[in-house]
Amino acid sequence: MIIGVLALQGAFREHMKCLKKIGIHGKLVKSNKDLEGIDGIILPGGESTAMGKLLVDFNMKENLSNKIKNGLPAWGTCAGMILLAKKIDGENKAHLGVMDIDVKRNAYGRQLGSFSTEKIIPEISDEPIELVFIRAPYINSVNNGVDILCEVDGNIVAAKQRNILVTSFHPELTENRAFHRYFVKMIKNNKSV
Ligand code: GLN
Repeated sequence: MIIGVLALQGAFREHMKCLKKIGIHGKLVKSNKDLEGIDGIILPGGESTAMGKLLVDFNMKENLSNKIKNGLPAWGTCAGMILLAKKIDGENKAHLGVMDIDVKRNAYGRQLGSFSTEKIIPEISDEPIELVFIRAPYINSVNNGVDILCEVDGNIVAAKQRNILVTSFHPELTENRAFHRYFVKMIKNNKSV
C-alpha cells in the first residue's frame, strides 16, 4: 500500500513520519505524475489559500478532484479539510470541492485560535485522543451522506463521507497514530470493494 501526501506546502513531513511509524510507505506528491500508483492521499495542514493556488498552478486541481470523486480515499487535516469542502463560508469558490460540508476558516480566531483538548471518538478508538487545533476551521454544516465523527463544544471537527475523511485538528502532531491507522483501514476496505 502506498499513501500519497500532498507536498506543495504545509505539514507534509509530519504525516510522512507518522506513516513510517506504522509501517506504511508514504509518497510525496508534488505533481500529477506523483498521483499515479497511490492508494490514498493525505492533504496536510498548512495554508489552504496557498495550497489551493499551487494546485491550480501545477495543473493538479481537476485531476486530483476527479480521482477523489472516483473513489480515491482522501484525508484532509485542517487546511486539507478546507481544500476538500464544497463550500467555504464567506468565499464564493471551493478548491477541490468534493465533500458535502460547509467549513468556516479560522473559526476559533486567527491569532489565539490554537489549543488542544482530549476526546473519545468511538469510530476511531476506545481511548481518548489528543486533538491539536492550530488556526483551525470547523464544519458549519454537513449534507446528507456525511457522518459526523466528533464535535467539540458543539462544533463539528471530524467527519467522513464515503472515501473522504476530514479533521479540523492535527493527529500528525501528536503521538497517537489511531487516525493514521483508521485511514489505512479505509483504504483496505476501499480495495476490497
Ligand atoms: N487557517 C488555515 C487555513 O485557512 C488552516 C490552518 C492549519 O492548517 N493549521 O488555511
